[in-house]
Amino acid sequence: MRILHEFSYERPKSLEAALALLGAHGAAASPLAGGTDLVVNMKMRSILQITENAGAKDARWPAARRVPAIQTPRVVVSLAELAELQGVRASGGALRIGPMTTMAELAARGDLPAALGALRDAAAIMGSPLIRNLATVGGNVANARPAADTAVALLALGAQLALDSKAGGRRVPIASFFTGPGRSVRRADELMTGIEVEAASGQGSAYERLGNRRQLEIALVGAAAWLAVDAASGKIADARIALGAVGPTPLLAPNAAAALIGMAPGSEAFAAAGKAARGEVKPIDDFRGSAAYRLELVEALVGRALEGAAARALGKGGRP
Ligand SMILES: Cc1cc2nc3c(=O)[nH]c(=O)nc-3n(C[C@H](O)[C@H](O)[C@H](O)COP(=O)(O)OP(=O)(O)OC[C@H]3O[C@@H](n4cnc5c(N)ncnc54)[C@H](O)[C@@H]3O)c2cc1C
Repeated sequence: MRILHEFSYERPKSLEAALALLGAHGAAASPLAGGTDLVVNMKMRSILQITENAGAKDARWPAARRVPAIQTPRVVVSLAELAELQGVRASGGALRIGPMTTMAELAARGDLPAALGALRDAAAIMGSPLIRNLATVGGNVANARPAADTAVALLALGAQLALDSKAGGRRVPIASFFTGPGRSVRRADELMTGIEVEAASGQGSAYERLGNRRQLEIALVGAAAWLAVDAASGKIADARIALGAVGPTPLLAPNAAAALIGMAPGSEAFAAAGKAARGEVKPIDDFRGSAAYRLELVEALVGRALEGAAARALGKGGRP
């Protein structure tokens, strides 16, 4: 049995109380959403102890550096009672997605605008049904992993993240949120309280990913595309392309996206954007796949994501 280290568990009933706990304990506290990353990372410590006790020679993970992350918070702050962090609601001209919204909820939201299609695609394919019932979009973004599926989708959507602390709140564009694998600009006393995305007619987005298995697998490459098509000219008025698992954080491919502006949406333009996106990333070889294979995937998946985004922007069949 994997025994967790000792910690105290808090279940605040209000946002104010949650922020007070984070303010008081700082880096010693971890917010708990669905726990599908946090609890696994907390258990890593006992896995390591078991393997170390078995002797360095036989250990499957001979050094802690091979383990993705170990978290040993002294205080775990559950966000389960905070109703304001749940669900999707309209806020001005934008949609505000509560960070505690689960992947299963997002995947089932057939009423989300076509502009948010990438987010629904990403939520629908991550993990497994059991994981999707627990895993939240806020946890996926806050965890700041380069392959985080909804983080890549939200990057293409140009999301803004609301971060709140006892000292006040700030809005951070998701494009400036990630600073490295597992690292972000979020301070230890801050909670992500909202994810804001603008959506209008004529916009569509889609997310594509490939892993070594269909389920329960981290992306080898993930690609999200967002397009705004001008109703009068039928040309692409704005575009964003985001990529996962090809660098230390989810990344934008700004040159590939900029080259689409003013073009008619179609296979030729999308294939050219896929080629251009390849030139904007430097993936590494790892046990999941080689850098060369990842570059092939970037080109193919960007093209497919753009096709999906255009179909949604133009309200044409294919994807729901
Ligand atoms: C079997 C398995 C399969 C998986 N498959 C995938 C996959 O296909 N794709 C993928 O992207 N991920 C995958 N994951 C990883 C994980 O499920 C996701 O990252 C998930 O979205 C994390 O959300 P959570 O609610 O469980 O977060 P938690 O584990 O509760 O939290 C994750 C981190 O975010 C912090 N946090 C959570 N909410 C907030 C908040 N509101 N404000 C500030 N900090 C916060 C926590 O303190 C913690 O550090 C998988 C995990 C497992 C165990």
